[in-house]
Amino acid sequence: MPLVSGRIIFDKANEFGFAVGAFNFSNLEFLKAILEAAEEEEAPVFVQTTEKAIRYAGIEYLSGMVHAVKDRYKIPFALHLDHGKSIDTVLLAIRHGYTSVMIDASDKPYEENVKITSEVVSLCAPLGISVEAELGNLEGEEAETRLADPEQAKDFLLRTGADALAPAVGTAHGILKLRERSEIDFERIKRTKELTNAPLVLHGASGVYKEYVEGINLYGGLVKEAKGIPDDQIKRAVEMGINKVNTDTDLRLAFTYALRKILAEEKSTIDPRKILKPAMEEVKEVVKRKIRLLRSSGKASLF
Ligand SMILES: [Zn+2]
Repeated sequence: MPLVSGRIIFDKANEFGFAVGAFNFSNLEFLKAILEAAEEEEAPVFVQTTEKAIRYAGIEYLSGMVHAVKDRYKIPFALHLDHGKSIDTVLLAIRHGYTSVMIDASDKPYEENVKITSEVVSLCAPLGISVEAELGNLEGEEAETRLADPEQAKDFLLRTGADALAPAVGTAHGILKLRERSEIDFERIKRTKELTNAPLVLHGASGVYKEYVEGINLYGGLVKEAKGIPDDQIKRAVEMGINKVNTDTDLRLAFTYALRKILAEEKSTIDPRKILKPAMEEVKEVVKRKIRLLRSSGKASLF
């Protein structure tokens, strides 16, 4: 069971009360690291690309790579559009064989978010493509913080028919998580789950592990003001009802650390494969660590 609709993974994770890892990629090295880690852990997984990743690599490369290897793995995995900001991007993803999309109209007024998300659902549902939507605003690259209201989440899911919801619960994108609080708003997750019983998604969930930040700085980098979500908070968020956990920053940190280290240590090498291989291996290690943290190891057998 290789490339599947995100809905199949969302529903299984919701039914059995676990979370799957969702990892961002924009090149071969990340994609391969993610899929091989998931295969070794026998874990279902989302591989996802943002609009920026699409602009960087070209959607033909990104979806082409995934479709080329879809029969190479036994685990179920979905190709997901992360933070699609417009109907046009969603259509682009549909045309290129994405099996899941996120429409993020959370910066729009509520009624407009309902309208845009409903439109995306009406495009995707007949094709079996799952839709993740966002409510409230995450901190970081997006606008000012607005946490998601659980009652509104219920109304939103009823009216839009979205398969999964990413409620803003205090986390942030980028290298600095939990800007304004010391922990995730667990009660908000719990209440949203109670009212909706829908698959819930946690964004901005990287651990920003100290060893990588320090390692990067040790080898000539300059990463400051880094703060992640501790692993125990991720665990608790999953217990409260999170079913998909997005990780991007941690993969970037692992990759950059390994890259800086190899370039510093192997000064004579000019072979990109010798430079990128250790970085790919480091990304793979982080993906495995996350999969174990989410307890999705072995869950491929449920499909
Ligand atoms: Zn996000």
